[in-house]
Amino acid sequence: MRAWTESLPPMPSAGEQPYQHVARNRLIELSGVSKTYRRRYRRRIDALVQLDLRIEAGSTVAVVGPNGAGKSTLFGVLAGLIRPDRGRTLVHGLAPVAYVRSRGVGLLPDRVRLPDRLTVRETLVRLAILDGCSGAAIPRSVDRVLDLVGLRERSGDRCGGLSHGLRQRVGIAQLLLRPREVLLLDEPLSGLDPVWRARFRELFEQLRRDSSGRTLLLSSHELGETARLTERVIVIEAGRVVDDFPTRGDSEALERRVLSVLRRAGQA
Ligand code: ADP
Repeated sequence: MRAWTESLPPMPSAGEQPYQHVARNRLIELSGVSKTYRRRYRRRIDALVQLDLRIEAGSTVAVVGPNGAGKSTLFGVLAGLIRPDRGRTLVHGLAPVAYVRSRGVGLLPDRVRLPDRLTVRETLVRLAILDGCSGAAIPRSVDRVLDLVGLRERSGDRCGGLSHGLRQRVGIAQLLLRPREVLLLDEPLSGLDPVWRARFRELFEQLRRDSSGRTLLLSSHELGETARLTERVIVIEAGRVVDDFPTRGDSEALERRVLSVLRRAGQA
C-alpha cells in the first residue's frame, strides 16, 4: 500500500525526540493505538489494532470502512471518551482529554443521544452551557444554530418525539454552537433527507472555509458525498488502516478503490 502520509516525515523510533522537524502541535497523531473491548461471556473484540495515523491540521479527512471496522472507536479516542489499551494519541501536541479540556472538540457521535423530556431549545441551551458558551450570548447562539439546521419552528418539541433525521440535525446544531478547531463527525449524513444532505454539504463547506486551520474528520458510508467533501480518505477494516489516499473528488474512482481494498482485506 502506498500511503498518502508517505510525504510526511517518518514516525520517530523509540527514544527519539518526536517530530522536532515539523510543527508537531499542528498534527493529530496516533501511534500503535489498540483498543480491545472485553465483555463477560463474549469474545473479546479488537476494535483498533496497532493503529498508526497522522493527520495534518486544516485537512478534511474521511474515515471509511464496513460496520464494526473501528471508526466510532477511533473518533471516541480522539474525543477523549475512549481510553485505548495501548499506544499514544496526541491532538495538537496534547493527550485527547487535555486537548478537549483546553480547546474543546466538536463531536457528532454516531448515535445522537438527547434528553427525551427536554425540548430542542432547552437541550441546546443546556449543551451550550456545558460547552462553555457565555450566559448572555446563549439565547442568540441557540437561535442562530436553530436557523442553520432549520429547527426554529420545532424548537418547542420534546426531543423524545423527534425522528432520527431531526435528532441528527439537533446534533449538528450543537456542533455549530462554538467554533472548534477539530471537528469529528461520525456518520453525519445518517437519517438526513436529500434536502438536508445538500444543506449539510453547504454547512460543511462553510466550516472548512471559515478557518483554514480547522481539521474535519468524517466517517461515512456515502462514498459519493465523501469524495465531494474531503481531500483524503482513510480506509479502516478490522481496526487497521488498509488504505490511505487523496480523494481528488472522483466518486466513482473512490468507490471502486474502497470496494476493492475492502474485498482484498476481507479475504486476507
Ligand atoms: P464502526 O464505527 O466502524 O462501525 P465501532 O468502532 O463502533 O465500529 O466498533 C468496532 C468493534 O468494536 C465492533 O465489533 C463493535 O461491535 C465493537 N464495540 C464497539 N463498542 C463496543 C462496546 N462498548 N463494547 C463492546 N464492543 C464494542
